[in-house]
Amino acid sequence: KEETHDVVVIGAGGAGFAAAITAKMNGADVIIVEKMPMAGGNTLISGAEYAAPGNWLQAAEGIEDSAELMAQDMLTGGDHLNDPELVKVVADNALAGAEWLRDTCNVVWEDELMFFGGHSVKRSLIPLGASGAEIIKKEQAKAEELGIPLLLDTRATELITDETGRVIGVKAEGKNTDYTFTAKNVILTTGGFGSNIEMRKQYDPQIDESILSTNSVGSTGDGITMATKVGANLVGMEYIQTYPICDPTTGALLYYDDARLYGYTVIVNKEGKRFVEELGRRDVMSMAIKDQTGHVCYELVDQNGFDLSKLQENHAAELDYLTQAGLMVKADTLEEAANFFGIDAEELKKTVENYNSYVEAGVDPEFNKRSMPAKIETGPYYIVKAAPAVHHTMGGVQINANAQVINQDGGVIEGLYAAGEVTGGIHGTNRLGSDALADITVFGRIAGENASK
Ligand code: ADP
Repeated sequence: KEETHDVVVIGAGGAGFAAAITAKMNGADVIIVEKMPMAGGNTLISGAEYAAPGNWLQAAEGIEDSAELMAQDMLTGGDHLNDPELVKVVADNALAGAEWLRDTCNVVWEDELMFFGGHSVKRSLIPLGASGAEIIKKEQAKAEELGIPLLLDTRATELITDETGRVIGVKAEGKNTDYTFTAKNVILTTGGFGSNIEMRKQYDPQIDESILSTNSVGSTGDGITMATKVGANLVGMEYIQTYPICDPTTGALLYYDDARLYGYTVIVNKEGKRFVEELGRRDVMSMAIKDQTGHVCYELVDQNGFDLSKLQENHAAELDYLTQAGLMVKADTLEEAANFFGIDAEELKKTVENYNSYVEAGVDPEFNKRSMPAKIETGPYYIVKAAPAVHHTMGGVQINANAQVINQDGGVIEGLYAAGEVTGGIHGTNRLGSDALADITVFGRIAGENASK
């Protein structure tokens, strides 16, 4: 089947919806193709917290912040291997993107902030229910309201170019129909390649099949493959991030870890000792966990932190599952909780005593934990066993500040835009938590805006 549209968006995750909605509201005729039977991608299964410097909740809490500070944090967190121009675009437009999600898409942000690892201040907004379901549900509803067709079960396979190298369309395979779309502009928002083990190994042989993944099965780097065939340049492909706190049996990211991002947990090893800053970078924490006994860690929270992190409210199903799977224990005393996992109980008690003294003093001389809002002293206690899994692929197609895809000679590939995890260079070696939602929303909107012109 042949169709002609102004803009074809490939991939219905957070970046794709932001691009499609923006292009459509600018008057373009837009269509989205999505290879999975449902929309959402990794955005849907993420916590979807959103780093927004200078936001309204910071103002109420008296937290001083700026786009410059966020940009600095992104660069430091990415070992300065980020493209500073793209970093600036994300940081400068992050707050506007969060407001756009709120005001145009009706996303509800909770009335609290989270403190994500590697940020120098608390700046991350939490979507209702602390999951990407809120973002995708609202964006999808907006796209529907605007009359943007969304073809599910339809996999883009190849970009079409003319004799000058300009992208003029895309081929896609539906369940029963093959499509040839002709378009003024194509936007790639196909996400990363965390679920493509071969591609992972090609760029980092250590990230092989032994490492589980938090990713949607759709994250196979299709956009990277298609763009490469039309000459796109790739950057940062070797930087593959693991998330420290995942299900050691399936790789699923554990929302229980929200408690850490509110500051309420300590993480220990089987010997009952802390070994890393709980609000450190994801790569640093992951590597530290891999070095511990059994390559796992144990995350402890007390009832007070458990309640304040809204774990029961937001993530009841996960808590039930973890308990049944023997990956979580709730016990009246620290000793009992430790014994469940064979953790050294005496050491754990000492660790908690020390930690509580740091909370009181306001400094952590061991690991410099940057936020310690409460002691761990109110039973019952909860411990979850966790391990790192592949989470985010920092590398991908190179873009410029207009979200245009760059070719191997440094020029622009006309007719081709990209946004979201499919792109590379924005996060350097390591993406900080809650920066992805800012990135995909900001660059999704830029791609949509430019592709609709
Ligand atoms: P981002 O955060 O960058 O938006 P996501 O992982 O949330 O990335 O979304 C990417 C979406 O793209 C997923 O829903 C995925 O299934 C879809 N996708 C990936 N490859 C293709 C393809 N070849 N054709 C159509 N959709 C694709």
